[in-house]
Amino acid sequence: MADAHRITPVALGELKLAQALFARSSLWAVCGCGREAVIDPAPWLAQGLKRQPLAQLEPRLRCGCGARRVRLEVRGLAEAPAGLTGGIHIFR
Ligand SMILES: [Zn+2]
Repeated sequence: MADAHRITPVALGELKLAQALFARSSLWAVCGCGREAVIDPAPWLAQGLKRQPLAQLEPRLRCGCGARRVRLEVRGLAEAPAGLTGGIHIFR
């Protein structure tokens, strides 16, 4: 459906968490070390952060490699993980 693609032209860093949570999309963390993980934003929503731009949330992620900032991406639910997944979690 068209809805899944509407967010594509938006600069991802400007996208707010609430906007990233459209139906049929999911929040992914992608680290420079190659790890990728689906992020459950429930802890952020519980903190009232749904209006935060994704760029402001990236420093709240921690990767198993020690990275203190992990890039966030929004992907369609149908997109299968390309390789290793997991190892990235919400730190705060
Ligand atoms: Zn990493």
